[in-house]
Amino acid sequence: MISISKPYIGETEQRAVAAVLESGILAQGPRVAEFERAFAEYIGVKHAIATSNGTAALCAALHAHGIGAGAEVITTPFTFIASLNAILYVGATPRLIDADASFNLDASQIESAITPRTRAILPIHLFGQPADMDAIMTIARQHELVVVEDACQAHGAQYGAKRAGSFGTGCFSFYATKNMTTGEGGMITTDDDAAAARARLHINHGMSVRYRHETLGYNFRMTDLAATLGIAQLKQLDAFNARRVETAQFYNAHFAALRGLLPPRALPNRTHVFHQYTLRVLPEFSLTRDALFAELQARGIGCGIYYPLPAHQQASVRASAWAQVHLPRADEFSQQVLALPVHPLVSNDDRALIVETIRALARQ
Ligand SMILES: *Cc1c(COP(=O)(O)O)cnc(C)c1O
Repeated sequence: MISISKPYIGETEQRAVAAVLESGILAQGPRVAEFERAFAEYIGVKHAIATSNGTAALCAALHAHGIGAGAEVITTPFTFIASLNAILYVGATPRLIDADASFNLDASQIESAITPRTRAILPIHLFGQPADMDAIMTIARQHELVVVEDACQAHGAQYGAKRAGSFGTGCFSFYATKNMTTGEGGMITTDDDAAAARARLHINHGMSVRYRHETLGYNFRMTDLAATLGIAQLKQLDAFNARRVETAQFYNAHFAALRGLLPPRALPNRTHVFHQYTLRVLPEFSLTRDALFAELQARGIGCGIYYPLPAHQQASVRASAWAQVHLPRADEFSQQVLALPVHPLVSNDDRALIVETIRALARQ
């Protein structure tokens, strides 16, 4: 079976974890601080704050910008539920707009969604491709809105000369399937000194001086065990991403001529780091999306559907007033998308087999 995602864990990671175990410092210690410095430098921001996961990073970032009850946050529901849940955790209200053909938030719909309560825009750099940050930052400046980037799938992606996560306040996840991993883990990146200070308090029980708690906070801290993995993975991130891009280009070259398959498009002026390689299976294809999924799985090719239901239609939230929106592209994408294995451990033989299998199914 070629799996849809698989972390690359080498001897460096194994040795690094063993060294932390021997050191006896398992919770937050020197490796967390080192990982934060290295990650801030890599993203190109002043501050990086390590967290227990990406959801915690999103939550703390919103909180750090003072977003809570009464505030509206503009985002799109074609994403993992965590992007929306973070808005709900801080007591704010999602204001949903549709996605564009790149699967990201459609920046042309932002202005008409702004109300007197709007405080923030939360773009998601979905599947590893940055959202339209020029347009988003221009609107944010004009309307004095905060931008919190969900960069949980976009480690190392660039928009122009800047990295995803360096425009507003960035949030990353290091879950096992992401472009780099610490098992579970997350990071907040920002140039905003005040937001960084508030985020740090928020992830550590509101504590700046030992056992003095200034605000109500949480335990969203990263461990040194996770951070040591992160330090090792960050050094390999560019190589991991380069291999993902190469495999995506290989797929694109072979699928371009197949009727009814729409390969993902890498837009100009940005790099797509292909957290997922997501095709659209159109009605003209010889099989339905679900039939193609089943045929591939049966042939040992792991694939994924990200996401089968837009976030606002999930049972957990669909009764909410803000969820009563009709977003045709999000609906269409959830019916059409199919992700193929693109992680760095997909071999040349694996990807050739995947292309051959899909070509054969397309001819039937
Ligand atoms: C993974 C992910 C998250 C949440 O990260 P966790 O580390 O799993 O909490 C948030 N948003 C998106 C788009 C993600 O892919």
